[in-house]
Amino acid sequence: MRHKVIAGNWKMHKNAQETVAFLNDLVNNMPTGKEVEVMVAPAFTNLMLATQILEDTNITVAAQNMHQAEGGAFTGEISADMLKSVGVETVILGHSERRQYFKETPSSLANKVDTALRHKMRVIFCVGEELKDRKSKQFQNVVFYQLKDSLFHLPKEAWENIIIAYEPVWAIGTGETATPEEAQEMHQFIREQIAHHYGSLADNVTILYGGSVKPDNAKTIFSQPDVDGGLIGGAALNTADFTAIINAI
Ligand code: PGA
Repeated sequence: MRHKVIAGNWKMHKNAQETVAFLNDLVNNMPTGKEVEVMVAPAFTNLMLATQILEDTNITVAAQNMHQAEGGAFTGEISADMLKSVGVETVILGHSERRQYFKETPSSLANKVDTALRHKMRVIFCVGEELKDRKSKQFQNVVFYQLKDSLFHLPKEAWENIIIAYEPVWAIGTGETATPEEAQEMHQFIREQIAHHYGSLADNVTILYGGSVKPDNAKTIFSQPDVDGGLIGGAALNTADFTAIINAI
């Protein structure tokens, strides 16, 4: 169901002690009265700690990645079943850093999506163009194929468990954000492509924006009609900024 989401993608930040300190601080300072799902995505080693600390709260926990196989000889990898066994029900897939540094491909991502859904997990699926695609006006084309190649094989029912995160690669960690108009244009485009393929369920898909969201730009981005919240990197690492962004929705 379409709803507001603010998700913190911690990337490779925060050890166990820092995770405990941050989450206790977040719980104590959580904005109240907001219709928003707040989510944190710590590193694998801290997921179990996070689900335990957040057990009696409304804050949800996501993983940043997982492997597509059910299990087996894949040294260093983590399966859907392992995530679920520590209380994690949501997984971020296709982040641009995974695509760029770990060579994740559209077809391996399609397999990961299938595995996650088979395990009744929710997927936050990241798409977004590089600067060269924006400059050459290919940005919509690039995002269209990212959606098509990894998601458009899914049956209609599967979309209940898909959240899209639009993250222009040139805006991630750079301090440069898409303008609210650029974000809206792409979010609307994404919703139209889903509608073209699946019909009216597109109106129920949650689409998040990511890429240098900060307390001072969050409000204008979130006020766009097709922007349902944010996937936050750097500004999700301290409670003051993260709660300010939650308050901006
Ligand atoms: P950023 O990262 O907010 O630091 O730009 C966003 C992301 O990569 O999810």
